Amino acid sequence: METVLNFINGKQVPSRGTTAWPIYNPATGQQIRQVIMSSAEDVNEAIDVAQAAFPAWAETSPLRRARVMFKFKELLLRDFDKLARVITEEHGKVYSDSIGELQRGLEVVEFACGIPHLLKGEFSEQAGRGIDIHSAMQPLGVTVGITPFNFPAMVPMWMFPISLACGNTFILKPAKADPSLSIYLAELLKEAGLPDGVFNVVHGDRHDNEILMRDPRVQAISFVGSTPAAAYVHKVGGEFGKRVQALGAAKNHAIIMPDVDIETTADALLGAAFGAAGERCMALPLAVTIDDDTADKLVKALKPKVEALRYGPGIAKDGEKEMDFGPLITQQHLNNVTGYIDKGVVEGATLVVDGRGKKPAGYEQGFFIGGTLFDHVKPDMVIYQEEIFGPVLGIVRAKSFDEALQLINQHPYGNGAAIFTANGAAAREFTYKVQAGMVGVNVPIPVPMAFHCFGGWKHSAYGQLNAYGPDGVRFYTKMKTVTTRWPDYREGNEGAAFSMPTL
Ligand code: NAD
Repeated sequence: METVLNFINGKQVPSRGTTAWPIYNPATGQQIRQVIMSSAEDVNEAIDVAQAAFPAWAETSPLRRARVMFKFKELLLRDFDKLARVITEEHGKVYSDSIGELQRGLEVVEFACGIPHLLKGEFSEQAGRGIDIHSAMQPLGVTVGITPFNFPAMVPMWMFPISLACGNTFILKPAKADPSLSIYLAELLKEAGLPDGVFNVVHGDRHDNEILMRDPRVQAISFVGSTPAAAYVHKVGGEFGKRVQALGAAKNHAIIMPDVDIETTADALLGAAFGAAGERCMALPLAVTIDDDTADKLVKALKPKVEALRYGPGIAKDGEKEMDFGPLITQQHLNNVTGYIDKGVVEGATLVVDGRGKKPAGYEQGFFIGGTLFDHVKPDMVIYQEEIFGPVLGIVRAKSFDEALQLINQHPYGNGAAIFTANGAAAREFTYKVQAGMVGVNVPIPVPMAFHCFGGWKHSAYGQLNAYGPDGVRFYTKMKTVTTRWPDYREGNEGAAFSMPTL
């Protein structure tokens, strides 16, 4: 059985741990390789190496660090096809979606290529007579990224390009269901000229994360995953004196106003709810109407579209059209999603399209489930409250815009929210009042571009700074403010001053 190795000090090395974790091709349900959880010794070695590599990398000029990022970007583009196939093989998402994920990660690399400009800091000439003040943004040291299964390329690339460009070293602890891509990325960074030890990968589970969260040499942790884990990492990392940015789960809503074109809106919902089999933190699993007439029309438009969804293996056979979405990540997750649909039925939601138990022919062992559509989802139902992370769309029937907005604002998660409307005033009111970190107007998945920042509100994110963009640079640097005076001794000594200096 092929084993995915750790990457420490510029080389792939076997873990000294003893617990193996199976990696499946979710489309076939077959185990394709394994990964061994790291021992404490492995994690400590990665921290030692990252700590040792830090001083020289931190002193490398930002321009030279940027050149490594430029080269890394070229190599990523060279290998896009190979990398996308690895993502599809281990995660299951369709090939074009894997390419899309790589592209969104690549854009953060492009942002990081501008690091000499981003680290310029500020300068005030003559802040007082003969006094200048400047700020410098200096790297932190060893930084850690703990990432989820659903974006094995993009989420790590929200983190390490900026961290490395800022002059830090980095240890990535990827999800264990689809860990191979992290090793490909490590090899490409090495090929791009990144010195050994600056970027390391340790595979593992909670025990390994505990070491990373507690080691005093680790300065910052970027975490992305489920909300209980995000809250925990934020708490423990904070207790151990680290900067922590911890992004969690989501339950994104879209308000559908009566003035929309129903077919266009139904298509937008379809991609956002069912793309990547709903395994996206910016998926759109809830559509909230504000009158029954719109709800009826929407359900009528959606029903045949959801029934016609095509799901199957992520790589299309020659000459065939690509599927709409692939399988779920594991059999266990398939059981969870099926369990949610069972619960929705028991709770009294109307099951319009039932995806349970449906498998594409020839892939009976794969972790597939068809698209599911519920109507009359109510706020007291579990399928409304909890993140399902599967291809399940629920229609919620509110009675007014205010009620719909209140629903969103009272939900414990606040990652993304959208409104579909032709009415500018309604859109303006929505964007102003909605309690969510990323908001779309006629945009169902408003994932900000790399030069803005990504982050939710409420229980969707913990920590002060968002991911990537300008916040990423702030997160991965500490600011030093220098006040400078060059007295002209020819003017004589001013004598001692005992009061608080004022300018
Ligand atoms: P997960 O929480 O099970 O695992 C994510 C990572 O956290 C893994 O690397 C795992 O080792 C680690 N982890 C898990 N429990 C931990 C703990 N108690 N302490 C320390 N580390 C722990 O999440 P997943 O199933 O891999 O990913 C799906 C989740 O991630 C969903 O909830 C999804 O919404 C969320 N997600 C959020 C965003 C975002 O930007 N907000 C992006 C992608 C995914």
